[in-house]
Order: sequence, then structure tokens, then C-alpha cells
Amino acid sequence: MKIMKIAALTAVFAAQFAFAQFKQTPLPYAYNALEGSIDAQTMEIHYTKHAAGYVTNLNKAIAGTPQEKESLFQILSKVSTLSRVIRNNAGGHYNHELFWTMLTPEKNTRPSAKLLKAINETFGSLEAFKEKMSKAGADRFGSGWAWLSVDKNGKLFVSSTPNQDNPLMDVVEEKGTPVLGIDVWEHAYYLKYQNKRADYLAAVWNVLNWKSVSQRYEDALSKK
Ligand code: MN
Repeated sequence: MKIMKIAALTAVFAAQFAFAQFKQTPLPYAYNALEGSIDAQTMEIHYTKHAAGYVTNLNKAIAGTPQEKESLFQILSKVSTLSRVIRNNAGGHYNHELFWTMLTPEKNTRPSAKLLKAINETFGSLEAFKEKMSKAGADRFGSGWAWLSVDKNGKLFVSSTPNQDNPLMDVVEEKGTPVLGIDVWEHAYYLKYQNKRADYLAAVWNVLNWKSVSQRYEDALSKK
């Protein structure tokens, strides 16, 4: 009887595990930590409803397929061969896991010397870069993302993708390793900013985690 119970529990655990390959990382700060730039209610709904939904739907969509045993990077690199549901939710999961680390309540973080040098060389100045990045987000029609990425030659570039696509996907025109991603879906800002996406984009710079962006930049370069 006891053994049967354990066997049943093991089976339940195994089934849960099989259907929950991907998980959300805990948010590295409180929902209200970015107040002033991004309000607590937006952060809570964004993390617990929208982002959580992408993980749940991704795990459901890959259940029983070879993707169950693949990494998120493997999946993203071949989304052109997979279903639209996998493309949207794998992108959604990757993008949001990245996005939470792009933000911080810590004031006045700065790009590393190495990143700042590359930004100056590529865009002219930090201000010119911010303007270009904000414009990429503002000009994205409908839902999507603005990106700063490293291309295959180690050069920085700014781009924008629709929906939950990202530069790691084989379907996008401008491919690279994202080092900064800004969510411009209405769910990321509408409660506080309504239709004023540009105001949200301006406010994001106040809570941007330059330490995290710099670290990603250096990691991306070291993989070249
Ligand atoms: Mn979002």
C-alpha cells in the first residue's frame, strides 16, 4: 500500500515535471520597487499574469514534443520550424526573464567603461543611443520590443521586433544577442501612462540596470 502510494506520488511528480520544464525566476525586487517610473500594480500584473502565462502556455505547447528536452536558446534559434504558439510563448518567456533583470531600484547605475566606449563608437554618445533606442520602441506599431544587441561581428545595433519575437530567433531580419530589451506592449505601461508610450520609455531610463546590461554585453562578446 505504502509502496503504491509512493509510486503514485512519483508518477504525479514526474508528470508535473514533464509539463513544467520552464519556470519564472523570482522577481529580483518588490513590485513597488520601481514606483515613480513603473507602478506596483503594473509590475504585479505583468509578472504574475502576463509573464506567468507565457511560461504556462510554452510548457503546454511543448509537452510531448522534442522541444521538451531543448533549451530556450535551441527553441528560439529554430522557431521558423515550430508552431506559432511556441514562437509566441518561448519568445514571451525569454523576453520577460530578460526584462526583469533590465530594471533595478538602484539609482544611478552606469554602463561599464567597455560598454560606454562601444556605445560612443557606434551611436556617437550615450544620449544619442538612448534617443535611438526610445525611438525604436516608440515607432514599433502595436505590440513588441526595442533591443540593443551584439551582432555576429561583436558590433552593437538597435532594432525592434513585433509581438514576442526577439533577435535570437531565426525568423527576425536583424539577428544578434540581446543585451538590453524594453517591453513596449501596452500591458507594460498602460495603467500609469495610458497612450503615452514615449513617457514610459523616458521613465525606463531612470530604473535601467546598467550593471546588468554591461554584464550581458561582456558575456555576449566573450562568446564570440
Ligand atoms: Mn510584457
